Amino acid sequence: MLKGKKIILGITGSIAAYKACYIIRGLIRQGAEVQVVITPAGKEFITPITLSALTSKPVISEFFAQRDGTWNSHVPGALESCTDHAETVKKSLELRGIKIKSKELPIPVAFAAAFEGEIIRKADMKVEFWSAKNTTCELVLMKNMDEVEDHKLVIDGPDIDSGDLEYALATCVYVAGKKMQADFESVIERKIHAWFNYMEGVMHTGQRNQFRIRISKDAYDKGLRLTHFAEVLYHMITDEFDAVVDKCEVHLITDPVKATAFLNDVAIPRYNMRDDRLASMTDESVDRFFTCILCQSFAPAHCCVVTPERLGLCGAVSWLDAKATYELNPNGPSQPIMKEGCLDERTGRYTTVNDAIKDATHGAVEEVTLYSIMEDPMTSCGCFECISGIEPMSNGFIVVNREYAGMTPAGMTFGELASCTGGGVQTPGYMGHGRHFISSKKFIHAEGGIERIVWMPKELKDDVGERLNKTAKELYGIDNFTDMIADETICTDCDALYEFLQEKNHPVLAMEPLM
Ligand code: SF4
Repeated sequence: MLKGKKIILGITGSIAAYKACYIIRGLIRQGAEVQVVITPAGKEFITPITLSALTSKPVISEFFAQRDGTWNSHVPGALESCTDHAETVKKSLELRGIKIKSKELPIPVAFAAAFEGEIIRKADMKVEFWSAKNTTCELVLMKNMDEVEDHKLVIDGPDIDSGDLEYALATCVYVAGKKMQADFESVIERKIHAWFNYMEGVMHTGQRNQFRIRISKDAYDKGLRLTHFAEVLYHMITDEFDAVVDKCEVHLITDPVKATAFLNDVAIPRYNMRDDRLASMTDESVDRFFTCILCQSFAPAHCCVVTPERLGLCGAVSWLDAKATYELNPNGPSQPIMKEGCLDERTGRYTTVNDAIKDATHGAVEEVTLYSIMEDPMTSCGCFECISGIEPMSNGFIVVNREYAGMTPAGMTFGELASCTGGGVQTPGYMGHGRHFISSKKFIHAEGGIERIVWMPKELKDDVGERLNKTAKELYGIDNFTDMIADETICTDCDALYEFLQEKNHPVLAMEPLM
């Protein structure tokens, strides 16, 4: 049972020293190798010869052995005296160079990874921050050292005890540090999701300007308020990212006018700037992709494969973000996948990707393709920004964003589509993904690409229109492709959709059948 284990047994001057012989015999019987270290007072109770005979080793009782000149200082503090026993553990840790980090968060509810995945139903909910109803956004922004006041926490607007059920929330974190880089901003930002979920009685889904936070009645009754959210962010950022963050300031803006101004003037331009950095990169221009398993707390079999042309399906983790995550934490949620062993370029099937997915999902998923929705599509967790789903009559795909509550020509709402797509499963014909992926040249590339898109909610079409039109022009020479895509103002049933596509001479009508 203890075979191969090396155990140091310390004996000091006490009547219990006699028991050492029994302990040594028991340890050796179980296969351990025992080295006795004894203080001079200990030798008054039991002789080194007895101990040496039992262990078959010389007993160490001095730093310096007179006999052969050996220094026994390789056991740090082996013979250090500590008469104040309340200090023994502390002193032992110091002598061995062991540092233990412990943090007490000043919040009235428990805080642990075990609470991640906690679902708060409407009946148990005290208040909600939800992008479908109010302005929401989360942004971590790097600033100069002199622009950040460490541990400054600001609640700008009403707190959750003002009597309302729903609030706006712009979470704005300013960080500064000598080693801080702009690329690390989004890595820290994405952790907000996990840290808020670690609070007992708090549920957080989504990211950037599309999220939902619910606070339970129970957590509210225990005294949880917004200032505790700010404390959590401050303590976790300065603890987990202490290598790069020297100062941190947190502002939680619930004033709806100020939150909207922050979203439009600061957050959106910053998100766009980060996204644009990727624009010049392609999957062919890199030698590795990255995994991301951050959402496994909600969907244990889910793993995103993040490539330059395919960001994580939450829309918040780009290839650069995943790379920065790996640089900050080489044992963290993003691991590199060397781009080797291509089995099929059309679908984006690689042996290394399959191996990584199998490993990351503990064997639950064995094969995924990067560019196909019909053949081993990537798994979908639950925080995807959009879902693409097959529309059989037109032979194309509809794309629906989370905010759209109405009916689609596929006969399902976003919620109904999500119930058969999410949870870490692979559902051929359906797939969760980020908004930016829609205009990627790799979007359902194996099935013919963006020419398959036949319907989108108007808001989504307007949001991605410029980039989508640019891709359509580059790939197929089509001008104003979005004019050929229907939305809810044109139709929400498949017959009317088919008529619209014929009228527009949509390219999907001339494409190969999907099934
Ligand atoms: S959706 Fe994917 S990329 Fe985004 S946090 Fe979850 S696992 Fe990571």
